[in-house]
Amino acid sequence: MSSREDPSKQVVIVGGGIIGIACAHYLNEAGFQVTVVDKSEIGKACSFRNCGLICPSHVLPLAEPGTVQATIMSMLSGGGAFKIRPRVDLRLWRWFLNFWKRCNREDMLESARAIQPLLTSSHHIYEDLLGSGSIECEYRTEGLMFVYKNQQAFNSYSPTNDLLSSQFNEPARRLETKELVEFEPSLKGDLAGAWLYESDAHLRPERLLSSWIDQLTQKGVSFIENCELQSIQHSQQQVQSIRAGGQELKGSHFVFATGAWTPLLKDLLGIYIPIQPGKGYSVTLPVPENSPRVPMIFPEHRVAVTPMESGLRLGSIMEFSGYDTSFKNDRLRLLTEGTKEYLRSPLTEVASEHWFGWRPMTYDTTPVIGNLPGRLNAFLATGHNMLGLSMAPATGLLIKELICGEKPHLDIAPYKVDRW
Ligand SMILES: Cc1cc2nc3c(=O)[nH]c(=O)nc-3n(C[C@H](O)[C@H](O)[C@H](O)COP(=O)(O)OP(=O)(O)OC[C@H]3O[C@@H](n4cnc5c(N)ncnc54)[C@H](O)[C@@H]3O)c2cc1C
Repeated sequence: MSSREDPSKQVVIVGGGIIGIACAHYLNEAGFQVTVVDKSEIGKACSFRNCGLICPSHVLPLAEPGTVQATIMSMLSGGGAFKIRPRVDLRLWRWFLNFWKRCNREDMLESARAIQPLLTSSHHIYEDLLGSGSIECEYRTEGLMFVYKNQQAFNSYSPTNDLLSSQFNEPARRLETKELVEFEPSLKGDLAGAWLYESDAHLRPERLLSSWIDQLTQKGVSFIENCELQSIQHSQQQVQSIRAGGQELKGSHFVFATGAWTPLLKDLLGIYIPIQPGKGYSVTLPVPENSPRVPMIFPEHRVAVTPMESGLRLGSIMEFSGYDTSFKNDRLRLLTEGTKEYLRSPLTEVASEHWFGWRPMTYDTTPVIGNLPGRLNAFLATGHNMLGLSMAPATGLLIKELICGEKPHLDIAPYKVDRW
């Protein structure tokens, strides 16, 4: 019996971002008939024009000692990358309180230990999946640099490097000014130095999505756009079907990979997942003359620069403004202004693409992957914060393993859906 006819191997995935696509990949490989539905266009939400960094080095969570003070200073300065739209929203303030409580060494290490296996496993999977070139997405393994202007700020990263080396086996190479300019000639000669993570990689995320979707379509995966989840039908502990975009979709298993929108599905899922949308922006320019070769982050200005084969992308900003769809041009200026102090040649080209996306932010910086409580055949895969691209393949593999009743390749306890 083919999977098209086998009623025990029909899976419906709600959410066609990078997480939903990675789940579709593994479930298709395991012989399931897979249908992916999305309320708008497949692959055009947060996974679309992000910075494209695949960074196993990004082990430490956002909540770490000193984050709150640094954030307040950045907000007071007005020009910082962190923004909150002040409003009465109890869930937002509860989220911040919980986030703030986790800004200590013990919780930071707990989150880091939870995140690292997902990052490392995904990195290896990407090497296999993309290294062969069958999915064309401008995949490169040039590393990632944290570039500092100020000597004191540069030196102050040293204890973090010691921690990452000793506890997480993620040492960085320290590049002093002269070596830095030789290594990356697009940078100015008056910078303090950089920390280089040699094993990080990058790609063009929208190309990854479109190639991967094409490949999955050819393998029989169905994608349905403009198909919003409306209701979930269940009997006892099993989901029987969902209603989405006016049609009823039956399945043996269901996966909800709904990113930043997940908390809005509280009544349908029967559980509130404390995720806040963390709005970030990117601009993409035509490849400039004297373009950087290596992706870099400027921590003092909180701007990421990703040199893709077909463009130069600048990205950053963490704005907690709910599901506000307005596009703020001053945020884009922060990105372009932020690079001026680092790059030797000014970026004079007009940006060809402007974009924002809502990162699915949990206050423990840890994703939510597992069984939906009380529903044996339904699963959540969400809350990937600032690293969904970097953690997608291992998430998809975990969901496949859970659905197939296999031993998960990673300990899934830290990602429990009802840990709140
Ligand atoms: C500026 C910026 C830069 C970033 N850079 C990086 C980076 O360099 N590396 C990295 O690893 N990560 C990066 N990220 C984070 C990464 O983009 C996210 O973690 C990731 O895209 C989340 O993927 P997702 O599939 O969960 O969500 P999404 O891509 O948002 O997909 C969720 C999908 O669910 C659909 N959906 C929601 N509700 C419903 C419903 N009710 N019915 C049907 N469909 C529904 C939505 O329409 C959407 O398509 C960046 C993010 C931003 C904003």
